Amino acid sequence: KEVVSKNFIELAIDKDLAEGVYDHVCTRFPPEPNGYLHIGHAKSILLNYGLSQEYNGEFHMRFDDTNPTKEKTEFVDSIKADIQWLGADWKDHLYYASDYFPQMYEAAVKLIKKGKAFVCDLSAEEIREYRGTLTEPGKESPYRNRSVEENLDLFERMKNGEFEDGSKVLRAKIDMASPNINMRDPVIYRVAHMHHHRTGDTWCIYPMYDFAHPIEDAIEGITHSICTLEFEDHRPLYDWVVRELEYPMPPRQIEFAKLYLTNVVTGKRYIKKLVEDGVVDGWDDPRLVSIAALRRRGFTPESIKKFVDLCGVSKANSSVDYAMLEYCIREDLKLKKARTMAVLNPVKLVIDNYPEDQIEMLEVQNNLENPELGSRQVPFGRELYIEREDFMEEPVRKYFRMFPGNEVRLMNAYFVTCTGCEKDENGNITVIHGTYDPESKGGNSPDGRKVKGTIHWVAAKTAVKAECRLYENLIDEEKGVYNEDGSMNLNPNSLTVLKECYLEPSLKDAKAYDSFQFVRNGFFCVDAKDSKEDALVFNRIVSLKSSFKL
Ligand code: ATP
Ligand code: MG
Ligand code: MG
Repeated sequence: KEVVSKNFIELAIDKDLAEGVYDHVCTRFPPEPNGYLHIGHAKSILLNYGLSQEYNGEFHMRFDDTNPTKEKTEFVDSIKADIQWLGADWKDHLYYASDYFPQMYEAAVKLIKKGKAFVCDLSAEEIREYRGTLTEPGKESPYRNRSVEENLDLFERMKNGEFEDGSKVLRAKIDMASPNINMRDPVIYRVAHMHHHRTGDTWCIYPMYDFAHPIEDAIEGITHSICTLEFEDHRPLYDWVVRELEYPMPPRQIEFAKLYLTNVVTGKRYIKKLVEDGVVDGWDDPRLVSIAALRRRGFTPESIKKFVDLCGVSKANSSVDYAMLEYCIREDLKLKKARTMAVLNPVKLVIDNYPEDQIEMLEVQNNLENPELGSRQVPFGRELYIEREDFMEEPVRKYFRMFPGNEVRLMNAYFVTCTGCEKDENGNITVIHGTYDPESKGGNSPDGRKVKGTIHWVAAKTAVKAECRLYENLIDEEKGVYNEDGSMNLNPNSLTVLKECYLEPSLKDAKAYDSFQFVRNGFFCVDAKDSKEDALVFNRIVSLKSSFKL
């Protein structure tokens, strides 16, 4: 990788290595298994994995499963699949924070013995009151000066299940007058008689995030613990924990800004509501930006990597346009995929001077910009489907496609002159007629005649019928994501289902996640959930054109 300019995290790592603070780099991605990963998590995954690669170091995958309420095995599996798909290979470094519960307990005992932690009987509400505010110092707990012996005894009894939830907590003894509220004797262990998805009922006390996380990092030998900006003012506590526990090589926390997409829903609570209300068909609905949804829509790991790279790493929160993500997938696919013909909104075109039962195979280049993709055979015949919008009985100004008397090019095939159309009793056009010029095979006329319009087509006899789904943003962008009452401004046109599309036969055997360019219509991907062998369903990944500029 050509390094143009390093980001602030790389500069910090360079400095640490130069000063001998660490002699190697070890990063981690620590999701809580309480939901599906989204594009923001992809940024964190690729950042941490990328740094481990760049510095020839290690990358750890760790489930931060210290909070038993919301965690589920289902999420563990989906998270693993998503990270593997993104290509962040953790090799044999897969960890569960819950495996460290014994060490965390020992760490708490160590703090108690050092006089740095105490068992407190204040209620949650009292603790909050005593904590003070930004402008007022906190008040010390009346239990703060319990003896080491008493604390050891009470903490052990907490572990043994003698106390009810919320009746006692273990707190770090730091400084109730600290300007940083996180340092005002934070709670580090609580009593919670809850079943844990991995440790079962072994524990009835659980460590708090700010205590558990630095221990997890230190146990694994993480050097740079990269997290998002909201943890910046927790860093003094992180440093306090690793210092007081006297780890030989304390990890360093570095914060960066979260990735936000403009007018896109990422909050778990909101997605859950969309699923429950049936607005979307699951966490992987192609309109969402969970990694599962992006994969189902047809995004590639490469496109997401490119996107994350373009966003860069920063200390300032900002929001990126979805169009940039679309740009990245377009760039990724444009040379990799065959340019095939599919008619999404069909009307029949009959070439009256073409032999009735003849089917002729035409040799078509798969991608004119990438000859390596080779060519394929596309059948042509007397009856074709073309897009309804490629015909106008009475053309408007500058309309160069089919209208009576006009000659156009059928892409990769022949010149055709439109001779008229048939209509039903309601005036709807049912069939268009034309005649072809046999001399113009391949799409050029030997006499040098020019045509202005080129349209795509699919031979009716051999066409594969399929469903295509077109997407727009779930959100009405004019109005923004949320109303004042917290409800969402949904775009009623976010999904268009086209049930009767016709594809050229080369697409017949397309499998889940296969993607193609459908000329003029965009890039499409076989839907992994709903597509069947004899009833293909395609998602439009992205259209071909955009006003997006880099
Ligand atoms: P969410 O509430 O959206 O699920 P989270 O931070 O609670 O996010 P975690 O499972 O705790 O989810 O996140 C795992 C890692 O992903 C953390 O290190 C977190 O900082 C990072 N992360 C989460 N959201 C983003 C984002 N939008 N941009 C970059 N990194 C993120
Ligand atoms: Mg999460
Ligand atoms: Mg979290």
